[in-house]
Amino acid sequence: MTTIYTFVNQKGGVGKTTTAINLGAFLAQKDQRVLIVDIDPQANATACLGINHTELAQSIYHSLIGDAPISDVIFQSRRLNLSLLPSTAALAGARVELVGMPDRELTLRKTLTPIHHLYDYILIDCPPSLGLLTLNGLLAAQNGVIIPVQCEYLALEGLTSLMQTLGRIRTGLFPDLNIRGLLMTMFDSRTNLSHDVVEEVRKHFSSQVFHAIIPRSVRLAEAPSHGLPISSYAAKSPGGLAYQALADEILEEDKRSLTDE
Ligand code: ATP
Ligand code: MG
Repeated sequence: MTTIYTFVNQKGGVGKTTTAINLGAFLAQKDQRVLIVDIDPQANATACLGINHTELAQSIYHSLIGDAPISDVIFQSRRLNLSLLPSTAALAGARVELVGMPDRELTLRKTLTPIHHLYDYILIDCPPSLGLLTLNGLLAAQNGVIIPVQCEYLALEGLTSLMQTLGRIRTGLFPDLNIRGLLMTMFDSRTNLSHDVVEEVRKHFSSQVFHAIIPRSVRLAEAPSHGLPISSYAAKSPGGLAYQALADEILEEDKRSLTDE
């Protein structure tokens, strides 16, 4: 059975892309068949995996708006044992073009349905907004959303409006939309602020916060410039170990919930 998670936070630069690709890479190392879906016109997930999106003939845009078969657009990285549905800047246009389409917010979900069976995990990386592309990502989040939260001042403020949006989607469009977990990112153990933010977020969201906490780590910031996930660049660095711990936590919980069903 496929598990689909969408990485969302309308706040920019909180670690959505870093989490999608590094979690994906560690899940792939554990023999999971992983597809990363880049629905951000910035195409950061695509670039972080070493793919030059300006050289791609086709991207997710051509499947969402055009009629390119999704299997033609998916890029396989044998080196990383991962698949990627790449983005390009053209996707920025999709925001406008989708508006005129029927079921415009369900386009991604429908595009992915025929390939579900090929993957154990589909991880969808959203842009930093709550626009139509993110809405498509949310409505495709069959097993929930993962919300990276940067350990910084006012972290909770952005979360309130995100939670309201998720609530509205639940009432109107997708009652089963659930929160898979909040992930604390860029934690700096030397600052009181980081500790305070984690405490505050745990107070509000208790068991919804993942045990794994991602530290601020130079290696995590460097890895994309080598086109590599942290699992291939510096697996034993603090950031690498943290994403490995997150992958273990998620796999374990997912296995448990499957046997409970
Ligand atoms: P956007 O909203 O623009 O899509 P994002 O939420 O996807 O951003 P990332 O691109 O993952 O955020 O991260 C923002 C920047 O911070 C990137 O340069 C990334 O390399 C860096 N970064 C992410 N996580 C960490 C970390 N734990 N330690 C150090 N740098 C990090
Ligand atoms: Mg991003």
